[in-house]
Amino acid sequence: MKNTGQRNSDSGGGGSCVNNSEPISDEDRSSGLNSDSNVGEGSNDVGGNSSDEGAVSDEDRVNVLENSKEECDDDGGGDDVSDEAGEAGDARPNFRNDGEGQQFVIDSIREWALEPGVLSLAKLDGLLGRLSNAFPHMPKSHVTLFNCQYDFDFKDHPGGLFWDKGIRNNLDKLEDLNFEPSDVKLFLHDYVTEVEELLENGYNYRGTVLEFCVRNYILDAPMRSFIKCIIGHGGYRSCEQCDLCGEYHDNRVTMVGLDGQLRSDDSFRHRLDPEHHKGESPLEKIGTGMVSQFRLDPMHLLYAGVSKRLMKFWFEVNGAWKLHAQLVEIISSVLIFLRDSCPTDFNRRPRSLKYWRNFKCTEIRRIVLYDGILAFKDLVDDNVYKHFLLLHCCLYILSSPSLLQ
Ligand SMILES: [Zn+2]
Repeated sequence: MKNTGQRNSDSGGGGSCVNNSEPISDEDRSSGLNSDSNVGEGSNDVGGNSSDEGAVSDEDRVNVLENSKEECDDDGGGDDVSDEAGEAGDARPNFRNDGEGQQFVIDSIREWALEPGVLSLAKLDGLLGRLSNAFPHMPKSHVTLFNCQYDFDFKDHPGGLFWDKGIRNNLDKLEDLNFEPSDVKLFLHDYVTEVEELLENGYNYRGTVLEFCVRNYILDAPMRSFIKCIIGHGGYRSCEQCDLCGEYHDNRVTMVGLDGQLRSDDSFRHRLDPEHHKGESPLEKIGTGMVSQFRLDPMHLLYAGVSKRLMKFWFEVNGAWKLHAQLVEIISSVLIFLRDSCPTDFNRRPRSLKYWRNFKCTEIRRIVLYDGILAFKDLVDDNVYKHFLLLHCCLYILSSPSLLQ
């Protein structure tokens, strides 16, 4: 099912769209506010965390690769293959097998891509995608192409060369993936030591000492509670922004009420709400603002969280709110109708709701902030629509720097 995203024509060629940020509203655009600089809009910050989840990915960020001559020379491999056609024609390589031929093609493309000049990374990705049909080991994106050196360890075998990746090797890597930290001090030790050193001495960039600081920590909820040494996100006093105590309803802790005192770095440091804490985080030693520097990002909380959950109820959970399958189709047709008039500011254009499970956060965001107002109007029950409008208004206001002022 994961391939849906790749089949979708506007995802594969995401780089073709030059706009890499999704403005919130016209007001933002006219006021010239950069979404990077405001607190409410976290999607750019999140990009580094999980590029797939609707945030701006690295590929989108850098659409064009401009190589200087220096970079090319640094690489050291630029001279072998890249020269004029005449020279290359003389030394026709002899490959012992397909693997070597394949490696040669990969190396050649890498060297060619690193030659001086301007190269569209979207086009390069397109080429790699096409070639990967013929060459199974061909990297499918420039990220892999530039980072990975394929080092095949071929073994002689009657009838040809043989490459065995090994089972234990693979399983060892799986262990790494499932790594779950247990001791936060151990887990953060190297990081804290390095940051401490950088904070004290600054970062020496080619002879110039630059001041170093950490702006924000962007983590998912379980990791935040682990790093901050606070109770988990299901706890009664788990809210990281205020000291409201949750109430237990329907097998879950619900935060009801608006009368909680806002937490601050100071109140955190002085443990004014002892039930919120589980220990002392190593980050406190390096002067981290344990409240202000931990961003609660809209991508995870609002789009992958609340909004997607609302969709789940509309489409799947039985109850008065559930939408009839035919109705969902009609709503989808409205969304598809909007497709052609969707501005290029959006990474992904509207598509049928039958893919809702695979929707990226940016698609859910677009529906909640824009398309939904029209697509659901007069089609869903009045109460359901009003409920949606409440969500829409909240998120629209919270996402707009000018409205938040
Ligand atoms: Zn709160």
